[in-house]
Amino acid sequence: MSMSLKRWLFRTFRPAIVAARTLWYAGRRYACPVCGGRFRRMRAFTGVYRLRGDLVDHFTPNAICPRCGAGLRQRLLFAVLAQRVDFTRPQSLLHFAPEETFFEFFSRQPALVYIPADLEPLRFLYPAALQADIRAVPLRTNSVDGLVCSHVLEHIVEDEQALAELCRVLKPGGYAAIAVPIYGATTYEDRTLDAAGRERMYGIDLHVRLNGLDMRHKLERAGFAVETLTLTDVPAQYFDLTARSAHVDSDRYVFFCTKR
Ligand SMILES: [Zn+2]
Repeated sequence: MSMSLKRWLFRTFRPAIVAARTLWYAGRRYACPVCGGRFRRMRAFTGVYRLRGDLVDHFTPNAICPRCGAGLRQRLLFAVLAQRVDFTRPQSLLHFAPEETFFEFFSRQPALVYIPADLEPLRFLYPAALQADIRAVPLRTNSVDGLVCSHVLEHIVEDEQALAELCRVLKPGGYAAIAVPIYGATTYEDRTLDAAGRERMYGIDLHVRLNGLDMRHKLERAGFAVETLTLTDVPAQYFDLTARSAHVDSDRYVFFCTKR
């Protein structure tokens, strides 16, 4: 299907689907920090893939906001941002590989100079985004107040170079909300793997490593002070804290970094 037809279908039919879902799921148990919706439950998420060669077949209840589509990782990242950043204050925000729900929120903030950026803007829904390779960001040193970079760095072989770039473009004291999927304490990376090997070990051939919580040290080496935050650090109604799955395990962390 062509991209323009996809965009047309998305824009034409999505509002009706979203309205029906919002009504069906309406309730009080869960809240979405991104769109402000309240729901009796959220949509489940399933996945089948391999991690370190072992089959993962997960069913994750209450994973996806029925209204805005924000998943665990987006709701966590947004809730952490909302706790720490006042978006009514004039500032610039660089956003890599913009998530749809964040894009809509940030675009609406009158005080924000919003800079969505992507390696291939034309492939996604935001063709007006800045074309940017995260390993060589086309922005001046010390030029932006904040940045959001979620689930990008696990695709980048030269992630330390990318982190140095993110730190470079931030003003001193600026913040970076950075997330990657996390698989345990220690990063696993084997650069000799081919596409089939990456799919078998990392779950998807587009990923180039399994990051662990020791990612924190890479962030610190790049020049950031780092807070590691998880689901229990934000209001409880945003998540089903009883849900246990490989998806919850990998998507339950965000690094809130400040340029030293
Ligand atoms: Zn939502």
